[in-house]
Amino acid sequence: MTNLIDRNAALAARDLKHIWHPCTQMRDHETIPLVPIVRGEGAWLHDAEGRRYLDGISSWWTNLFGHANPRIAAALAEQARTLEHVIFAGFTHPPAIELAEQLVRLTPPGLDKVFFADNGSAAIEVALKMSFHYWLNQGHGEKTRFIALTGSYHGETLGALSVSDVALYRKTYAPLLLTPILAPSPDAYEGEPGETPAQVAARRLVELRALLERHAHETCAVIVEPLVQCAGGMRMYHPDYLAGLRRLCDEFAVHFIADEIAVGFGRTGTLFACEQANVSPDFMCLSKGLTGGTLPLSAVLTTNAMYEAFYAEYNSGKAFLHSHSYTGNPLACSAALATLAIFRDEPVLERNRALAAHLARRLEALRDHPHVAEVRQTGMIAAVELVADKATRRPWPAAERRGLRVYLHGLQHEALLRPLGNVIYFMPPYVVNEAEIDHLVEVATAGIAHAVAD
Ligand SMILES: *Cc1c(COP(=O)(O)O)cnc(C)c1O
Repeated sequence: MTNLIDRNAALAARDLKHIWHPCTQMRDHETIPLVPIVRGEGAWLHDAEGRRYLDGISSWWTNLFGHANPRIAAALAEQARTLEHVIFAGFTHPPAIELAEQLVRLTPPGLDKVFFADNGSAAIEVALKMSFHYWLNQGHGEKTRFIALTGSYHGETLGALSVSDVALYRKTYAPLLLTPILAPSPDAYEGEPGETPAQVAARRLVELRALLERHAHETCAVIVEPLVQCAGGMRMYHPDYLAGLRRLCDEFAVHFIADEIAVGFGRTGTLFACEQANVSPDFMCLSKGLTGGTLPLSAVLTTNAMYEAFYAEYNSGKAFLHSHSYTGNPLACSAALATLAIFRDEPVLERNRALAAHLARRLEALRDHPHVAEVRQTGMIAAVELVADKATRRPWPAAERRGLRVYLHGLQHEALLRPLGNVIYFMPPYVVNEAEIDHLVEVATAGIAHAVAD
């Protein structure tokens, strides 16, 4: 029998010989361990040497109901024996039809058409192209620009990156990108001292109105991450902003694109974040949790009005043109249907409310920490903003990589925490229990002590 102790290292060495990983300076792996996971169960990931890690970040925000979820696995196995894939132009299949019907029922009113793609960034590309093409078909080819929020993240393909404002991902590739019009984010953390989140939202809407007055004639759409700007540091804002945004988009004739790729499917406390402002966007992009974190799939929901603008005689050239080989993949659709069945059969949102309340109670103590500027939470997303100076909120220099110390501490103590810079966050699968939440918070708290010590 090979020594259990060496199995992680052996797999890591084989990996590093050929594989180039995402979001990684590969040289870091000279000192930071690459963790080979051989099995998952519930909220836990198990490595090749029998150590385990509580998945505090739902494996990049995708997992909802635990790893290797038996119900999703069974649906997948059944589908794999029935139909694994078929071209989605000229052909269709029951899982896609059923999924589209259910998504239309579950999403806010007015979203009646579904365009499938296969990951989050692709869904953003679809929404951007569709919005532009809608205006073109309406005789408004002068509308070629998009308004995005500061601190936004919508993916990393060139179009999606164009409407993103996280410097880490954008800066290097900026010469290749479209130039969005940036509207100041309603991010409550960036508010003036004493300002409530609702007041920040109201002030930012005034600024957005001014931008629209200048730019609406050349603008296709405003794109936002409803309620939580996730990759931008789990920055949160008041739902009033979404309600005001809906009104402004109507007034100025620009589309409202809601990127619910990260916040959809119960993360913020409601099934979709837009519900908290009682708004229907013109486009809603879904991915990540859509398949429960099992397979890549995305969907762009839009209105009948949008669809009608493309519906014309063939030679008019008005058809929407965007195609991925794996569009509407039946396996992915069946994983999504199994995920929605769990929402239907179990009191998921109710259970999440109790878990979120428990998480809030456990994070309370960190508010007084001398290096914590803010503890914030929206539903099943909670974040702790670490700063060098609590009074002035001066951040630690990014180069000190203090969040990384929390990550490494987590790995040594059975927890996968993956801070965004100096923001330590919790976004666990919905199957965690209170004891597991306690574990995450305890490991994070010890990790933070480690990270701020010099
Ligand atoms: C992750 C994410 C995307 C991109 O999705 P990918 O599947 O990673 O391409 C887009 N928007 C938001 C808000 C995201 O969190």
